[in-house]
Amino acid sequence: MGYPLVYGVRNVEADREEDPLPEIPDLEAIRHYLMPRLDRLTVTRTETPIPWLVRTGAEGLVTIEGHQFGEIHRLGKFLLFFLDEARILVVNPMLTGRFHWVEAGTKKPGRLGVVIAFDNGYELRYSDMRQMGRWYLVTQEELPGVPQMATLGPDAMSVTEDEFLARIKSRRGQIKATLANQEFIAGIGNAYSDEILWAAGLHPHRRRATMDEDDLHRLYASMRAVQEESIAIVDATVQGEGLGKKEEWREHLKVHRRAGTPCPRCGSEIKGQVRSGSETNYCVVCQPLFE
Ligand SMILES: [Zn+2]
Repeated sequence: MGYPLVYGVRNVEADREEDPLPEIPDLEAIRHYLMPRLDRLTVTRTETPIPWLVRTGAEGLVTIEGHQFGEIHRLGKFLLFFLDEARILVVNPMLTGRFHWVEAGTKKPGRLGVVIAFDNGYELRYSDMRQMGRWYLVTQEELPGVPQMATLGPDAMSVTEDEFLARIKSRRGQIKATLANQEFIAGIGNAYSDEILWAAGLHPHRRRATMDEDDLHRLYASMRAVQEESIAIVDATVQGEGLGKKEEWREHLKVHRRAGTPCPRCGSEIKGQVRSGSETNYCVVCQPLFE
């Protein structure tokens, strides 16, 4: 499935098991691409070929016709499109949701779920092979009622170090699971938790209770650095190639799904473990496990 056989340790089953999910750098790149393009455009028409994707009711989407798009925010793994009349289109693209920004009349992608046409002749399209994405049209007051929204922790890109340290001290479990827990910190998933822990030199199964202050400071700094570096890389890629070809960009990752390749820091072989459908990758030399 796209991996050279020379890596050996990878097998087809492992490739099938993981579902990559868009994470912060992917969603930030989509946001940065769309915001200047959509800003102040007026919706002329909407279509919902896969109506159940709009969880607040596909018929409601018609009511955004005649309204303008404004800012786009990201909260965890949700994109929030603000409309001129204080309503918000909230989108969680889940596994396979893709945005497309094309001129009307362009050939339609497979599993086209939502189309929003604008007064400049362009369309924002959303396709979703697995049809698991979630759209909601809500007022600002209704936003906390969007499933999972009320329980989201602070976003990984805006949480301060003090807040991060205060929150993590009450956690007891394995550090990778904690980082990817959206109620602890929103936006980090399976791929970037591996990258952050490798950068911080912390084993993914390390328990928080075994980590000292230095470990926690390093973890916070790595979380910020890895995301910022990745946002810049994915941004540049998406600005160059446009949207619609994929839902996540992972070529720049150093350890995630790199099992069998040399660690970029020490040259040891990157390990891979697949557990309940998710692959975890790490370097045993750079990320020793202290029980
Ligand atoms: Zn290493």
